Formats: sequence, structure tokens, C-alpha cells
Amino acid sequence: MAIDANKPYDDENIFAKILRGEIPSKKVYEDEWAYAFHDIAPQAPLHILVIPKGRYVSWNDFSASASSEEIAGFVRAVGKIARDHDLVEPGYRLLANVGENGGQEVPHFHIHLFGGKPLGRMISA
Ligand code: 5GP
Repeated sequence: MAIDANKPYDDENIFAKILRGEIPSKKVYEDEWAYAFHDIAPQAPLHILVIPKGRYVSWNDFSASASSEEIAGFVRAVGKIARDHDLVEPGYRLLANVGENGGQEVPHFHIHLFGGKPLGRMISA
């Protein structure tokens, strides 16, 4: 069920629980700003979710309300994770679903990082 990207942050969302270590995840990276782990239902040979440590519902919330430090730290973490997985060549895809039309299901902002095969054109409806 897609979520309303403008709702207040819900501390009981599944990624908040992962951040607090209350439910397990397959961690690939962590620093002051970001936590990254394998998606439970991968849609490519490599499918990593990167989430900010802060309490942001969506890209909309994060881009409007996060500090410049948080944004810079998060963006640098995403780039580092891709480089650490040797994805720069042959390439990869980043995706952020936002709200109902975007199909966002988990109300903690996250970037999907896909790689490991040619990913085709952008959207298959
Ligand atoms: P969204 O549709 O919100 O952009 O993507 C949510 C993603 O979170 C989905 O790709 C889904 O497979 C993944 N996901 C949902 N619950 C869990 C979980 O408990 N653990 C992990 N690792 N991924 C999850």
C-alpha cells in the first residue's frame, strides 16, 4: 500500500526499526549520515537500500527539511556505496519512490540502488 509522503514521521516504520537494530538487516554500509542494506525482495542482482539516519518520511521531506550537512553526507554515502561495489563501470541506477503515485511503501526516505545487469529503460508500467 503506497503511503502519503506528507504524513508526520512514524517511529514504528520498518526502516526505523532496522536503524534501531530491532529487526535484522543485511548491512552493506554505515556512517554518521546513512545506513545501507540489501533489499529483502531484490529486483536486480544487486539491490541496496540507502537510508538517512534522520527521521525523514520521503525525498520531499528530506530535500525540504534536512540540513546541508545531512544532505551532503547522505549523497556522498550513496556514491561511495556504488564505488565500493564496482558499479561505476558498467553503471547502475538510483531510484526514490515518493508518495502514492511514486509507489512508496515504507515511510522513511530511501534510495534504491540497482546494479549487476543492464537495467533497460526507466519505467515499465
Ligand atoms: P518503496 O516501495 O517504499 O520505495 O520500497 C520499499 C522497499 O523496501 C521494497 O523494495 C521492499 O522490498 C523493501 N523492504 C520492505 N520491508 C523490508 C524489510 O523488512 N527488510 C528489507 N531489507 N527490505 C524491506
